[in-house]
Amino acid sequence: MGKKIAFIGLGHMGGPMAANLVKAGHLVSGFDLAPEALEQARTQGIQVAESSAAAAAGADVVITMLPAGRHVLAAYQGQNGLLAAAKPGSLFLECSTIAVEDARAAHALAAAAGHRSLDAPVSGGVGGAVNGTLTFMAGGSAEDFADAEPVLAAMGGRIVHCGGPGVGQAAKVCNNMILGISMIAVSEAFVLGEKLGLSNEALFDVASAASGQCWALTTNCPVPGPVPASPANRDYQPGFAGALMAKDLGLAVQALESTGVQARLGSLAEEIYRNFAQGEGAGRDFSGIITEIRAASGVEAPAVEALA
Ligand code: NAD
Repeated sequence: MGKKIAFIGLGHMGGPMAANLVKAGHLVSGFDLAPEALEQARTQGIQVAESSAAAAAGADVVITMLPAGRHVLAAYQGQNGLLAAAKPGSLFLECSTIAVEDARAAHALAAAAGHRSLDAPVSGGVGGAVNGTLTFMAGGSAEDFADAEPVLAAMGGRIVHCGGPGVGQAAKVCNNMILGISMIAVSEAFVLGEKLGLSNEALFDVASAASGQCWALTTNCPVPGPVPASPANRDYQPGFAGALMAKDLGLAVQALESTGVQARLGSLAEEIYRNFAQGEGAGRDFSGIITEIRAASGVEAPAVEALA
């Protein structure tokens, strides 16, 4: 049977995720600060509430999909906050990408207010949100995960219970640290190959079937040609924007600092993407980092016709 679900944050990700909950037969009451987001949500069968507290009143499940940890913690707390508005024992699903520490603080606040909660960040981007194929990485108790799973299944293709509170965010931050580092590694190798007279196609043919194989190479290839669907073939239109990679690596560095883990490549990748996102890179796919590496190396991009 459909549940009553409050959905707070109906942006690029939250809007289509909430629409998929409606399609799965849930009654969704949504709220966003942006009037355009509310307008769009209305066309998708979402009941638009006057405030986040009004959306949460009477809901079985409260989902947040907000920009950053400070927005989540602010939305949870206070007289008009979600925790006060929801009925006792509601299940809070926090799906934004936020720091592990903030996720743990959100769990503690929810528990103190008599609610149940999971951190359940996603990967898969806007395409995954629209198609209902997101991967969810959940942290919290096994009972709360079991209750949340059918709701998450309406929005995702793969739902993984990673462990206790905050561990879903830990999985997200660790995965994206691998991704940020590996995209830089793949891009540096292509530029070195270009300088050494090795064609991008030839390097791809070798590395994609050898030990250099990884997602950054074979799915999101930073050079145009070998992988027709990769953002490099459409002038680095995202995809996964540089600003989001910079944000996620910032969360990784926060976790490195709080744990004392020495991750030199992770820290360097954060610096590289932070700089990238200060300019045009903010709105370009993160694989566009290769253009910075070429520029710094005095290498011209090979003509695209030559790759056809
Ligand atoms: P977005 O900026 O499009 O959407 C966020 C929405 O939250 C906005 O519409 C904003 O108006 C709303 N909002 C902010 N404060 C609010 C409040 N107090 N109450 C109600 N609404 C409020 O961002 P997005 O791309 O949808 O990303 C949302 C989260 O998902 C972020 O944490 C992001 O890191 C994460 N994420 C994004 C992607 C992606 O590809 N876009 C992929 C994975 C994870």
